[in-house]
Amino acid sequence: MNLTLHLTEGCNLRCSYCVRVKQPVSMQEDVLKAACDLAFSAGGHAGLCFFGGEPMLEREKILLALDYCAEKSAETGKPVQYKMTTNGTLLDAEFLRRAAAVHMGIGLSFDGIAQDTCRCDAAGRGTRALLEEKAKLLLRYLPDSCAMMTVAPQAAGDFAASVKYLHQLGFQRISAVPAYGRLVKWTDESFSLLTEQLHAAADYYTEQFLQGKPFFFSPLHSKIRDCIAGVNPSERCHLGFRQMPVASDGKIYACTQFIGDGAFLLGDVFTGLDRERQRQLAMRHATPETCKDCALRSRCTNSCGCTNRLETGDENRVSPMQCSYERMLIALADETADRLYDADPQQFQSYFV
Ligand code: SF4
Ligand code: SF4
Repeated sequence: MNLTLHLTEGCNLRCSYCVRVKQPVSMQEDVLKAACDLAFSAGGHAGLCFFGGEPMLEREKILLALDYCAEKSAETGKPVQYKMTTNGTLLDAEFLRRAAAVHMGIGLSFDGIAQDTCRCDAAGRGTRALLEEKAKLLLRYLPDSCAMMTVAPQAAGDFAASVKYLHQLGFQRISAVPAYGRLVKWTDESFSLLTEQLHAAADYYTEQFLQGKPFFFSPLHSKIRDCIAGVNPSERCHLGFRQMPVASDGKIYACTQFIGDGAFLLGDVFTGLDRERQRQLAMRHATPETCKDCALRSRCTNSCGCTNRLETGDENRVSPMQCSYERMLIALADETADRLYDADPQQFQSYFV
C-alpha cells in the first residue's frame, strides 16, 4: 500500500502560492509506526512518501521510519519504496547518504531562476542561492532526483529559462505545473506569457533531444508517451485508491487536498481503511459534465480531483484555466512529437515507444 505521510504541518518557507495552513503540529511516533504497519499490511510492496509541510523538519522521524521499515521488510519479505517531496532547504550530506542507501526518490520543489519570486523564507528572503547549492548536493547523491517547478502567473516569463537552468544544473527529470488555487490569479496576459514560454521550453527540449541528450520534461513527455501508449491520463487519478495521504493525526483521506474534510475520510492508521467508503468515493468521482463530449477527453487530466478541488472547490468541476492549459499543452505536445519524429524517427521510437 502506498501512503503519503504528512509528518508535519509546519514549514520554514512561506511560498506565496501555498495553500497549506502552517501549524507546529507533527506526527507522533505511534502514528508513524502504525502508518508503516498499514503500508505493509496489503499485498505487494509497501510505499511511503514523506511529505509535509516540510518533511525535513522531522528528519528524525524519517530516519526512524527507515529503520522501522527495514525491520518490517526483513520480517515480511516485502520490498519497501520511499519517496519524499521537499523544499530542499534542510538537506545535508548525512541525510542524503541515508536516502541514497534506500534509493529514495526525491522531488525537489525548485522554481529555477524564478525561485525568489514566490519561494521565500519566513523573513521574506529569497532561497534561490541556497537551493542551487542544495540541488547540486542532492544530485551528487541521488542523480535521478526530480526538480519540481510550480509556475505562478507572476513568474511565467521566467519559465523557459528556468527549465534550461535546472537542466544545466544537472536535473534529468523536471516536472512543471501551473500554480492553482485561491492565492493564484491567472489573467489572459499571464496565460499568453505561459503559452509563449512553454513553446520556448519545447524548443529547448527538442534541441536537446536532437543532440542525443533527451531529458524528462513532464508536461510534454507525459502527453507524448501517453498518446503513443493509448493511456488516458485521467485514469491515473485514483481518488482514494492509489496513494493515500495520512494526516499528522493518523487520519487517512482520499487525497492531499481533502485533508480535514470528513466527507473524504477513509479511516485511520490504527483501525485501517474503510473499504466501503473507498468504493463509494470512487463512484462519486466522475468525468466532469463539461468534458463528456470533448474530443480531447482521453488526453486530458481533467479528472484530477485534487486540482479540480483546488481550482473550483469541486472535485468533479474543471476551471476555465485548467481547460485552456490542457488544450494548449496537448496541441504543443503533438507539434513537438511531430518535430521529433520527422527529425529522427529511430530515436523517437527508442525513447517514447
Ligand atoms: S515549501 Fe511547500 S509547504 Fe512550505 S510554504 Fe512552500 S509550498 Fe508551502
Ligand atoms: S480540454 Fe477542457 S473540455 Fe476537454 S476534456 Fe479537458 S478540461 Fe474537459
